[in-house]
Amino acid sequence: QTPIERKPEWIKTRAKMGPEYSKMQNLVKSEGLHTVCQEAGCPNIYECWEDREATFLIGGDQCTRRCDFCQIDTGKPEALDRDEPRRVGESVVTMDLNYATITGVARDDLEDGGAWLYAETVRQIHAQTADRAEGRTKVELLAPDFNAVPEQLAEVFSSRPEVFAHNVETVPRIFKRIRPGFRYERSLKVITEARDFGLVTKSNLILGMGETREEVSEALKQLHDAGCELVTITQYLRPSVRHHPVERWVKPQEFVELKDEAEQIGFSGVMSGPLVRSSYRAGRLYQMAIEK
Ligand code: SF4
Ligand code: SF4
Repeated sequence: QTPIERKPEWIKTRAKMGPEYSKMQNLVKSEGLHTVCQEAGCPNIYECWEDREATFLIGGDQCTRRCDFCQIDTGKPEALDRDEPRRVGESVVTMDLNYATITGVARDDLEDGGAWLYAETVRQIHAQTADRAEGRTKVELLAPDFNAVPEQLAEVFSSRPEVFAHNVETVPRIFKRIRPGFRYERSLKVITEARDFGLVTKSNLILGMGETREEVSEALKQLHDAGCELVTITQYLRPSVRHHPVERWVKPQEFVELKDEAEQIGFSGVMSGPLVRSSYRAGRLYQMAIEK
């Protein structure tokens, strides 16, 4: 390990287990459920699960695109599993979630780019939790760009997730190298389309992949201009040596400054920090958007 690869002391989990977390943990184990929170070893699991919030991955474990920060394998996905949306809905019911984030791989192999799969998962969660005492489970859809194909976006948007998130992840100058399957401008366009449809929109920037501080400010402004309402700002952690190296460790103080800056720019809600993930305390961030 070179010194730059060594994690600074502020990248540490504070392990505090609460009663809701323990209940969820037992359920997930006894029912054999799969969550990103556990499978990615997310450091925020005690906090998010205590609020009954969790993240699920759909579409399989092979992605048709290859992003240089992402630990999901690139390859030929399995055939579409049409029962997956129902099962995810069932998991949400079992875990009695207040807020579920649904994310997944890009399915460029499918004729509809996976639009039905994403939309149906939102519909299933809403339908299966319609009678829930505390109100139906809110869904944040963290989706790929569907190549900005209007029919595919229309299908996804009309499932009406409480939040439509699409992450640009990095700044324009290095975007092509980091996300060869995406286009920065196209991603902004998808966010604008979601906003115009009437959805609460959200995006994420991962810092530490070679961007400059000025470029981060510029990207925040561009996101806001594109109609993005909520933003998360996070630190890049390298999944393996085959992935993009960590270029810098952003200090906690800089994350605080960026939060202030993003609020100044006009975002309704911002989560910014070394351990923040795009689904971190997502329910609370959504609340900020609707209260504004
Ligand atoms: Fe990972 Fe999404 Fe990129 Fe696929 S499209 S490699 S899942 S970030
Ligand atoms: Fe799960 Fe996301 Fe929270 Fe991590 S940040 S525990 S993945 S909901």
